[in-house]
Amino acid sequence: MTTEPVAGAAIDVRGLRKSFGALEVLRGIDFSVARGEVVCVIGPSGSGKSTLLRCVNLLEEPSAGRVTVAGTEVTDPEVDIDRVRRRIGMVFQSFHLFPHLTALENLTIAQRRVLRRGRAEAERIARSHLARVGLSGKEAAYPAQLSGGQQQRVAIARALSMDPELMLFDEPTSALDPELVGDVLAVMRALARDGMTMLVVTHEMSFAREVADRVVFMDDGSIVEEGTPEQVVGAPRHERTRTFLARVL
Ligand code: ADP
Ligand code: MG
Repeated sequence: MTTEPVAGAAIDVRGLRKSFGALEVLRGIDFSVARGEVVCVIGPSGSGKSTLLRCVNLLEEPSAGRVTVAGTEVTDPEVDIDRVRRRIGMVFQSFHLFPHLTALENLTIAQRRVLRRGRAEAERIARSHLARVGLSGKEAAYPAQLSGGQQQRVAIARALSMDPELMLFDEPTSALDPELVGDVLAVMRALARDGMTMLVVTHEMSFAREVADRVVFMDDGSIVEEGTPEQVVGAPRHERTRTFLARVL
């Protein structure tokens, strides 16, 4: 059974199911993210967190259910998914920068090709976002000349330079050396403070506790519990959540 979407939500997911062959990875997910809200998704490896994110921008096609992003039902077969995707910034565990382009060029290429911005405007916007993530002076650097944390901040700045209405993060700090995690989380924290709508898959419980408005715990393709960080991380009601937290905290 599918309930009605929440009006005005940035992301609304109803009755979402996803199978790969015989394997059911999402078993009926209902949740929504309000505009300006920061929601962290936590849960064990293989529980379906990445698949959920990928269903939100249709990198995966849901097997059943409805996904609505900023008022557009992306699961409607008539929808122009490229137009919807343009409004969603996505940051992955691996940075996916173009290795043969400088940091500045990594930020301007999609602005110019997709948004049709002229070079001067695209570069101005790119510089402002590189400054925002603390990378002024690195415009001419190639990805290989940057640390992992700097590369991930370039990836965040690149997503921001497309003026997204919301941002999806899939374990953005998991591939980083521990000493580089803090700079990336600081950028994300500032973004949250600026009012960006964010759906963040993370194992960083301190980030979830400090920054998330809501935490969703997933296990085995279902949402087991959700609530404020104090509720879900601080006082979990379900045994499965407690077991997971005992492993990561
Ligand atoms: P998480 O991000 O929580 O670790 P995933 O969403 O990546 O979990 O994966 C959930 C399950 O779906 C895993 O069992 C994974 O092996 C499976 N899976 C993910 N993507 C595919 C795919 N393209 N084809 C087949 N199985 C997949
Ligand atoms: Mg994952």
